[in-house]
Amino acid sequence: MKRICPKCSCTKIWSLKDGRFRCAKCRQTFSDPRHRISITKAKLRRVIQEFLLEHSTNIILSRIDISKYMLLKILTLLRVAMTQDIPEVFEGTVEVDETYLGGQWKNKRLTVKRNLPKAKRGRGTPKQAVFGILCRKGSVWADLIDNVEAKQLQSRIIKQVKKGSTIFSDTWRGYTGIAAKGYVHRLVKHTKDNFVTNGNHINGLEGFWGYLKRKLAAKGGIRQSRLHLYLGEYVWRYNHRHLNLKEQQSYLLKLLKKYIRYG
Ligand SMILES: [Zn+2]
Repeated sequence: MKRICPKCSCTKIWSLKDGRFRCAKCRQTFSDPRHRISITKAKLRRVIQEFLLEHSTNIILSRIDISKYMLLKILTLLRVAMTQDIPEVFEGTVEVDETYLGGQWKNKRLTVKRNLPKAKRGRGTPKQAVFGILCRKGSVWADLIDNVEAKQLQSRIIKQVKKGSTIFSDTWRGYTGIAAKGYVHRLVKHTKDNFVTNGNHINGLEGFWGYLKRKLAAKGGIRQSRLHLYLGEYVWRYNHRHLNLKEQQSYLLKLLKKYIRYG
């Protein structure tokens, strides 16, 4: 069973000595971390289908007889489930890179993006650092990070990439020393219009960043506190892009079962 706060959907949950759980964010105490959902399975399937087709909340509400409260709850739970459905540890050849989300959606030049003020939380925060790892077999792992220094980046790499793998990165100092930790490190120089013939690139990840930024921009404003859920959603969609709609629908329905109880 996945742990999730039934009140605020936070996934940081403490286990109490008496077997119950407490949400680290809203401090709600509960015995069953699943959400109670009053909906039929058939209706839930339809909601998932509309969600996969990226229809807006208003369109879904006009098509399915469901309260707005319940719909928003299900959409949040879907995003939580997708965010926690992390791909298996990568091996082989991977690409790593960081980017920033928020504020201007345009890609900053490398020298500019690294000299931005440290990301702060809350209002007035222009940028959020994101770190990504792409397995050349096709899957992406990505998460929000506090800064782009070596400690943050390399601890993620060690967790998500098997030792002995080949890592392609740019020349940012945050990646220096990763070879000493059991990886083959290949550096990529950022050069525009350079025809790449030797696999020496991080184009896969740059493609994913483009996809992510287009999707987030199309959503309009997203609250910073919910950004991790949208990141999880688009990582999941990208990683499952080869499944057809029916397959994705069944997959999500199965994922969701860990988080809900009917009735
Ligand atoms: Zn909570």
